[in-house]
Amino acid sequence: MKTNDKFDIIILSGNSIGEITFKKLQQNSVNTAKFHVEEMNPEEILSKDCELFVLCSDKMENYEFFNRMFNSKRKKWLSARMNEYIGEIGPIVIPKRTACFKCYTIRKLSADYLERKENAPIDLKKKDICAEIIADILVLKIMKIIGNDEDIKDFNSVIEIDPINNAIFRHTVLKVPNCEVCGV
Ligand SMILES: [Zn+2]
Repeated sequence: MKTNDKFDIIILSGNSIGEITFKKLQQNSVNTAKFHVEEMNPEEILSKDCELFVLCSDKMENYEFFNRMFNSKRKKWLSARMNEYIGEIGPIVIPKRTACFKCYTIRKLSADYLERKENAPIDLKKKDICAEIIADILVLKIMKIIGNDEDIKDFNSVIEIDPINNAIFRHTVLKVPNCEVCGV
């Protein structure tokens, strides 16, 4: 057991992807801490030292908030969320180097992202299985990052996962030059 506050990964968890990812990282002996995104003191968490922050939340206001915080504190971060059964991982945000989350939301609004909606009521069991699959892919990405084994294509992109239809898409995310968060 480590007693200091240095972690490889800090998960800010607000959904089941965060909970499952935490367990899987622990099983892989990754030095990981987890905090509930709604119950923590952001300033305190951000003062901790880690290789990568991982935000797992389905609430967009958390993304707005942490995107600004991580940008101003120059922290590298990755995120994962789920809308119905569709998962989204990324982008990996490295302040001053890559597109930020705001850039991504602006690009997404102007792009032809497919709207896939199921009309049937949400099946919780199906949703749990989807969260498990999304967490598996997130863990692989995290292991690549902490092993310094990232591929150039891992940056500036968002992975969209549709476990029901066995489909994975990669969307390129370019920096928005006049972005209100990361632009100059
Ligand atoms: Zn930006």
